[in-house]
Amino acid sequence: MIANPNIVLIGAGIMSATLGVLLKELEPGVSIQIFETLDDVALESSDAWNNAGTGHAALCELNYTPQRSDGSIDISKAIKVNESFKISMQFWAYLIEQKLLDLPSEFIRRVPHMSFVSGAKDVEFLRKRYEKMKGMHLFEGMEFSEDPKKLAEWMPLVMEGRDVSQPLAATYSEDGTDVNFGSLTRNLFNYLKGLGGVTIHLNHEVRNLTRKASGSWMLEITDKASGRERYLDANFVFLGAGGGALPLLQKSRIPKGDGYGGFPVSGQWLRCTNPELIEQHQAKVYGKASVGAPPMSVPHLDTRMIDGEKGLLFGPFAGFTTKYLKNGSIFDFALSIQPGNLLPMTAAGLQNIPLTSYLIGQVLQSSTERLDALREFIPKARMGDWKLETAGQRVQIIKKDPKKGGILEFGTEIICADDGSLAALLGASPGASTSVAIMLGLLNECFPDEVKSPAWQTQLHQMIPSYGKSLAKDPNLHKEITEWSQGVLKLEVVGEESLLRT
Ligand SMILES: Cc1cc2nc3c(=O)[nH]c(=O)nc-3n(C[C@H](O)[C@H](O)[C@H](O)COP(=O)(O)OP(=O)(O)OC[C@H]3O[C@@H](n4cnc5c(N)ncnc54)[C@H](O)[C@@H]3O)c2cc1C
Repeated sequence: MIANPNIVLIGAGIMSATLGVLLKELEPGVSIQIFETLDDVALESSDAWNNAGTGHAALCELNYTPQRSDGSIDISKAIKVNESFKISMQFWAYLIEQKLLDLPSEFIRRVPHMSFVSGAKDVEFLRKRYEKMKGMHLFEGMEFSEDPKKLAEWMPLVMEGRDVSQPLAATYSEDGTDVNFGSLTRNLFNYLKGLGGVTIHLNHEVRNLTRKASGSWMLEITDKASGRERYLDANFVFLGAGGGALPLLQKSRIPKGDGYGGFPVSGQWLRCTNPELIEQHQAKVYGKASVGAPPMSVPHLDTRMIDGEKGLLFGPFAGFTTKYLKNGSIFDFALSIQPGNLLPMTAAGLQNIPLTSYLIGQVLQSSTERLDALREFIPKARMGDWKLETAGQRVQIIKKDPKKGGILEFGTEIICADDGSLAALLGASPGASTSVAIMLGLLNECFPDEVKSPAWQTQLHQMIPSYGKSLAKDPNLHKEITEWSQGVLKLEVVGEESLLRT
C-alpha cells in the first residue's frame, strides 16, 4: 500500500491520464489531484490533430531500423517499440473489457501501415529490412513488393501519375492502427473523474514547487479564472506537463534533473480538404527522412479516423520555435537556459548546427516547396486541396555527456527524485503509443516496494496479461495476447468495413 496516498499530476495529457488510471486501478484508495493550465484536458500534444495518431509499432517507421556500417539492419529498437505498443493495447483492451472505457472505435482503428521508398539504394535497404523482420513473429504478415501494380493496389493515390521506370518498393502491414490520443485521453479522464478521491482542476497553472523539510512537496498554483494563488502539499508529484515539464523539473532542484535542457521543434501538417482524395487513400505511408533531417520529420501520408470521420494528413514540416508548448511563451527557451545546463546546451547546439539549419530551412519553406514535398507522395497533388495546420510542440532532450559536454536526444526519459517522491517525463518519442510502458517504468522507479507487493503484482497481471514476460521471445504468448487485444479493441480484419465500423 502507498504510505502517503496524496498524489498530484501536473498536466492533463495522455501521460497523466494513463498514470492516474494505473494508480487508481492498483490502489483505489489514493487521492489524486490533476492540475491543467488550459480550460480542458488533452489540448496540447495529445489532441488528435496535434500529433499524427500513428500507433507506433515499428511496422512502417524506417528510423527504428537503422542500417549498420556493414550494411546489416538493426531491428532491436523496432522490437522494443512493437512490444511497448502491445503493452498499451493490452491495457486499453483491459479497460474496455472491464467496461471502464466505452467504444474502442472512439479512439483506435485499424489502418494499414506502409513504408515506401524509391531509388535502387533505398529499395535495397527496404528489402533487407523486410527480410530481417518477416522471420520475427512480432511483425508477422508484413508484405513486400516492387511491383507497381501491387503498389497501386495498396496506395492508388501515391501511384497515380508516378514514373514507374525508377526502382520503387513498399512494405504493407495490415495490423497497423490510427489512434485518436485526444479522445483516449478525454475518455480516461472521464473515467477518472467519476472515481472517489480524484479532482481535475482546469485553468490551474502550477508555477512552482519546493521540497519541504518533511520530504513532501509544496506546490504553488495559480487559479487562472480568479487570479488566486493556492498552495498544496503533495507526497508524490508527476510532472506530466509535456513541454512544460522541463521548467518545472528545474524548479524542483532535484539533483538528477541537473544539466537537463530542451530543444523545441515545432510542426505543421498539410490537411486534405477534398473528400474524394481522402476516400482514395487508406494507409499510413512512411517515407525516408532526407539527409540532415531529424527522425521526427520523416514525411508520411496518413489516413486518420477522428470523431468518426475519415481524414488525410501529410507532413510534418518541422521548424524551430522558442516555445515549449503550443500555447506556451516565446520566452520558454531563453528562460530554461541556466548556469547548470549552459554547457550541455552550448555543446549540443554546436554539434547540431546542421539540424538547426535544417529546421530554419523548413520554417522558411514556401508553399511551392511544401507542394513539391507532397508531390513526392501524391504526384498529382494540387495545393487547393490542402490547408496548412499547426501541429503540437516537441521538446527534445538535451543532457550532460561526459565526453561531448552535452548531447541532443530524440527519445523519452523519466527523471525521478532519489526517494521516488517526484518524477518528470521529458522528450516526445515514440510518445503516446508507448505511454503505458513508460508509466509502468515510472511505477518501478517511484513505487518499487508497492510494485513488488502481491496485491500490485496480481492487478498488474490482470491489466497487462504479458506483464513481466517478453512477447518477442514467446511466439505463443504473442499470438494469444494479440488475438485477445485485437478482438476486444475490434481490430480484427473483416474486409474493407473494419476501418469505418463504429
Ligand atoms: C507533431 C507531433 C506528432 C506526433 N505524432 C505521434 C504519433 O503519431 N504517435 C504517437 O504515439 N505519438 C506522437 N506524438 C507524441 C505524442 O503526441 C506525445 O508523446 C504525447 O501527446 C505527450 O503527452 P503528454 O501528456 O506528455 O503531454 P501533453 O499532451 O502536451 O500534455 C501536457 C499538458 O500539461 C499542461 N501543462 C503544461 N505546463 C503546465 C503547468 N505548469 N501547470 C499545469 N498544466 C501544465 C499542458 O497545457 C498540457 O495540457 C507526436 C507529437 C507531435 C508534437
